[in-house]
Amino acid sequence: MDKKPTLLEKITTMLGLRPHSEYVKNYFYDTNMRASIYMSVIVIVLEIWMIIRLTKTIIVNNLQANLSHYIETYYSNYFILLGAGVAMFVFAVMYLRGKTHKKSIGLVLKWFFSVISIYFGVKISINDYSKGEQILTFLTMELFVVCLLTWRPVVGFGILTTSYVYFFMKIDGMTAVNTGEPGLTLATQINSFTMWLSTMMFCISNYNKTLSQALKEESLEKVNSYLSRISIHDELTGIHNMVYFRSEAQKLLNYVTTDKEKVVFLFFDIENFKSYNEKYGFRAGNELLVKVANMIVEAYPNSLVSRFSDDHFVVLTKDDGSEEVAERLSAEVNGLQDEVHLQLKCGAYKPEGDEADPSLACDRARFACNSIKKHFYSNFRFYDKTLEDKFQLKQYIVNSIDNAIASDHIKVFYQPVVSTKTGEIVGLEALARWNDPKYGLLPPAAFIEILEEYRQIHKLDICIIDNVCRDYRRATDSGEIFVPVSLNFSRLDFELCDIVGELDARAKKYNVPPEFLDIEITESALTDTQNYLQKAMKALRSLGYKVWLDDFGSGYSSMNVLKDYSFDVLKIDMKFLRGFENNPKTRPIIQNIVNLTQTLDMVSLTEGVETREQFDFLASINCDRAQGYLFSKPVPLNELCGMIGAGDLKFSDEFRKFQK
Ligand code: C2E
Ligand code: MG
Ligand code: MG
Repeated sequence: MDKKPTLLEKITTMLGLRPHSEYVKNYFYDTNMRASIYMSVIVIVLEIWMIIRLTKTIIVNNLQANLSHYIETYYSNYFILLGAGVAMFVFAVMYLRGKTHKKSIGLVLKWFFSVISIYFGVKISINDYSKGEQILTFLTMELFVVCLLTWRPVVGFGILTTSYVYFFMKIDGMTAVNTGEPGLTLATQINSFTMWLSTMMFCISNYNKTLSQALKEESLEKVNSYLSRISIHDELTGIHNMVYFRSEAQKLLNYVTTDKEKVVFLFFDIENFKSYNEKYGFRAGNELLVKVANMIVEAYPNSLVSRFSDDHFVVLTKDDGSEEVAERLSAEVNGLQDEVHLQLKCGAYKPEGDEADPSLACDRARFACNSIKKHFYSNFRFYDKTLEDKFQLKQYIVNSIDNAIASDHIKVFYQPVVSTKTGEIVGLEALARWNDPKYGLLPPAAFIEILEEYRQIHKLDICIIDNVCRDYRRATDSGEIFVPVSLNFSRLDFELCDIVGELDARAKKYNVPPEFLDIEITESALTDTQNYLQKAMKALRSLGYKVWLDDFGSGYSSMNVLKDYSFDVLKIDMKFLRGFENNPKTRPIIQNIVNLTQTLDMVSLTEGVETREQFDFLASINCDRAQGYLFSKPVPLNELCGMIGAGDLKFSDEFRKFQK
């Protein structure tokens, strides 16, 4: 923030003793050039009139014999003044129309013009005074110069005081005609002093008015240039932003006809930037972004380079050697420090034919870039046919989710959860499937992440809630047993809608008791400390819904999650069972987790149980529940009912009492 000026600073500013910025200097100069035009026009008209009048007098009164006297005393003065006026006028007009920028000439002319004006004022008024007339011309010229032009007050003071002193020294030696006394009359002295004072005051006020106007415009100009800079520049890195990139890329794609097949879009992503940010802090993260941005700009001269978002950059360049440059850049970024393994990944896309959509091109390059994420040995990938198919599916998913829901293409498959004590089904996990007319039955892996990326996941999850509630109602109405169903919620559901309200409304609509609906939240969703998630989870539990921790042990902060949140059921991630047969450490690890759940008063459930041996082990260590292909894959409800009907599986009776 600017600090307040002191009194001394205020006074020195007011008197024009402080230096001006370049902008203010120009503002004063321009103001004076505009004023010079008015002044010079007045002078030109006046002098032409004087010349005509004098010439007429000479001719009418036949005074030609005295011509040399008139030339010396009058004409020469009139012509000098007229010449100065014309020169001033011509220069000011040329300057303001941008025809000349030689400011020093303007300055010389301004001084010349002012000095000559005052000089003639002095001269004519001495003449008038000697004839007993008033010294009006002198005073007019003072006003003319000091008030029409804007001077720094110190300079104005100098001009006024010097000219007044000079003028009065001149007339002090003369005899006043009206009084016959030598020297200045008291009245003239007082009147002149008053005039000097008021002209000086006017000079100060004029200067300060112009200065404040100049400062106001200067700050407006600064704001304007800042706004226009950030409208096409990225605020953090200073390189161009996407607004600029899209419009320039569009122009290039539209107009470049030759070499078009050589154009390539590159999308860069700094892998592990998040870890870098977490380790070194936000500020260091920003510094790294600035550094990488500049490295990319330098690596691709004569190309369009912009920051796409976060730690993503895009480049539109010529294909020649762009891959080698990207590989070199990646090595350089990797070498910036050695504690966090930073990698610069690059996806490339070459537009085909007369394609001219920069956004789509960036999306494709990005898609290629994402496809090599977490691939340690690969830093560069061209968008190709395989990716094209995946990309099309992605576009299809995003564009068709609403229709898929409306057309009932989203299905719920149920996977049983059994009690290790009784072997009976004590729960079902609802897992989404997309039964698409074009692509067939799509597993969640094909659409969950995409829907999350495009912030559409809540639509799917609400649809699943709806289907599950309807299934419950249908089963219960036909007197069949039902068991609690666990639903998978995405972290984004809590951001994108009031998912708790949506759940409760549907439960009420279909009259499903809360004991029959459990919510699974995956461990990785809880890594950031989000207050709203805590709140939503509390709200769920207070409404009677149970909250489960899904995929426990799949991330890096499992223990923190347990510390910060409360859960009713802990689902041990299936990766723990993967080494069951060969890895002797598997059993003690699972056993310890089960013990932990008991200590924390949670129900334990292990997912991914595929063999009888695994199941027996889980029963032996008192893991409460098991889920996996050993019992059933996720299947449609009618198929599950068929398995139960055939006696392969059995629903536990323990929930019958809750059924409404
Ligand atoms: P999850 O919640 O951990 O679900 C368990 C996944 O493991 C399911 O895959 C299931 O089919 C699979 N699975 C179960 N038992 C076994 C087994 O014995 N062996 C093997 N190899 N796999 C087994 P699915 O149905 O493909 O679901 C994958 C993930 O998609 C789910 O993981 C869940 O995170 C997500 N998901 C599924 N449905 C929904 C949904 O409606 N909403 C949201 N937000 N996510 C969902
Ligand atoms: Mg789950
Ligand atoms: Mg799971």
